Amino acid sequence: MIIVMGSRDQDDVDRVIRKIEEFGYKAHVILGVERTVIGAVGDERGKARLQSLESLPGVERVVPILKPFKLAGRELKREDTQIRVGSVEIGAGRFCVMAGPCSVEGREQILETARIVKEAGAGVLRGGAYKPRTSPYSFQGLEEEGLHLLQEAREATGLPFVTEVMTPEQVELVEEHADILQIGARNMQNFGLLKQVGRARKPVFLKRGMMSTVNELLMSAEYVMSEGNLDVILCERGIRTFETETRNTLDLSAVPMLKKLSHLPVVVDPSHGTGHWDLVAPMAKAAVAAGADGLMIEVHPHPEDAFSDGSQSLKPGRFRTLMEELKPFLEIAGKTL
Ligand code: PEP
Ligand code: MN
Repeated sequence: MIIVMGSRDQDDVDRVIRKIEEFGYKAHVILGVERTVIGAVGDERGKARLQSLESLPGVERVVPILKPFKLAGRELKREDTQIRVGSVEIGAGRFCVMAGPCSVEGREQILETARIVKEAGAGVLRGGAYKPRTSPYSFQGLEEEGLHLLQEAREATGLPFVTEVMTPEQVELVEEHADILQIGARNMQNFGLLKQVGRARKPVFLKRGMMSTVNELLMSAEYVMSEGNLDVILCERGIRTFETETRNTLDLSAVPMLKKLSHLPVVVDPSHGTGHWDLVAPMAKAAVAAGADGLMIEVHPHPEDAFSDGSQSLKPGRFRTLMEELKPFLEIAGKTL
């Protein structure tokens, strides 16, 4: 339920919050420019009791939230959310490029890539320390050492970094080191993991599962947010279809749909979305046109030697060119890097 306040009086607001909590719901206060609204989130079955809050002083009306994603949806919060990571802002007009290798492979590789992407204008470094691989015999990542190398790269360049966390047990360690916690496509519905990152104090980068709907992605964001972590960045990274020429089918229509349904920032990953380096630039531009708030792009100094995803990784020069080519698209979209 959404409680729309007619008054801005703090006592009136506090009284409503107390009542919501008495009824066993969580209260989420949103201070708008025009008015204050309070979301009461919890078990749907007690809705009738919440309706009675209409009789409290200062309450204008009590209206149901119709979508199942209460905190992630636009019904409770109409304005776009902007997420801050140090000095980097993502969403609400600020565009962010997250770039780096698929996997952290060693000191030289990650430091060199960090310098390259920083110089080209990326705002966040990406790199996997824990890798979800289809085969157990493939490179699984440098794990904790990878986190330390990412930290070194941050110290050297000032770039915050996003890295994947694969299990609930890893959350504490990854949270200690990383600036943004990535939930991979394969884990989008790992509800135990979602709850655990929901209790973390770092923003969560939530990738759409390759077999998941837009609604399911938003429900997964809801899992994180319902635990208290409201800083969720959604990522469209391609879904599985009958098409086999591309690794996945990048569902760009998900971008305006997500923007319509949710206030959260939406980032597009054309690297995993296509699986081919030469499709990355055109789809990156298309993502800006579709309304994305950012891009996640795999960049490797020597893609031919990459431990993972070399065929979809951009070489440094191509990444620099793409960053230049994005400028007019961003200008038309009214977004700034
Ligand atoms: C990655 O970002 O390298 C990755 C494994 O992505 P996804 O979970 O989208 O496959
Ligand atoms: Mn990858």
